[in-house]
Amino acid sequence: MSDVLMKGKIVADVYRTALETKIAEAKAQGIEVTLAIVIVGDDPASHVYKGRLVKLVESLGGKAKEILLPATTTQEEVIACIESLNGDEEITGILPMMPMPKHINDDEIGAALKAEKDVDCLNVVNAGEVFLGRSRYAACTPRSCMAILNYYGIELAGKHAVVIGRSNVVGKPVSMLLLQQNCTVTICHSRTKNLPEILRQADIIVAAVGKAGFVTPDMVKEGAVIVDVGINMVDGKLCGDVDPACEEKASAFTPVPGGVGVVSNMMVMDALVRNL
Ligand code: NAP
Repeated sequence: MSDVLMKGKIVADVYRTALETKIAEAKAQGIEVTLAIVIVGDDPASHVYKGRLVKLVESLGGKAKEILLPATTTQEEVIACIESLNGDEEITGILPMMPMPKHINDDEIGAALKAEKDVDCLNVVNAGEVFLGRSRYAACTPRSCMAILNYYGIELAGKHAVVIGRSNVVGKPVSMLLLQQNCTVTICHSRTKNLPEILRQADIIVAAVGKAGFVTPDMVKEGAVIVDVGINMVDGKLCGDVDPACEEKASAFTPVPGGVGVVSNMMVMDALVRNL
């Protein structure tokens, strides 16, 4: 077994306490913290995610405003909806559920968001601040990875972190956050040559590939720290991108489920109150 099983709940609970206090303080000053969630269409995963966020924000003392638009809504109509929420003083933050239906350009929706109300770093201004090293308010999943590493006291400065995946929502921003905390970062992707060899040099592995059990024990250095971002369904069972057998070699390891995902939603809430 690995030395430290880095469970997400205990990390989320630390944020929960701080957020409850902040939201109650805002309420005392007459500000009702409100998250607007915009969903276009009937994607079941988006609706499940929306349900979890509504429950979470309410459990913290805030409110949710659900805007459910039919799949036929045009891009211009979604942008008009976002712009109206941008100008609505009762809305603290806005989360448009991605991906939008195919006829809508996700980037255009992100661009329409007022940067101050963008809770998941979909706007290029916020993403740019992260890439310039001036903000840690990246998207919720990369922030969750960092919150877990920091909570469990994982030393980062000077360590070699290897990130598998270069998506704009996970791989790239988590690489920037690791760099902000002085890791030496290598980003791998589907065209990377000798990936197992590179992974074996990693002090810290962040797996964001989307392939169940992709990282196997032969790719892991003894004592490495592993953060498993993957969410994959195999035979009706949720599993990560890292083969659980890697746990034997790791000094610390996030479980799936119960690791990164648990903290991610709390990071949305943390971003929601950041300007209060
Ligand atoms: P994505 O956009 O599909 O990106 C996957 C990345 O993996 C790409 O950069 C791809 O490389 C790389 N890749 C694919 N096959 C590879 C291979 N054989 N060798 C090396 N790299 C390979 O996925 P994502 O949105 O970043 O999500 C990644 C995983 O995290 C998924 O399982 C997703 O469900 C999960 N996720 C979890 C949370 C959470 O809160 N826990 C949140 C978001 C996502 P190319 O760029 O070359 O194609």
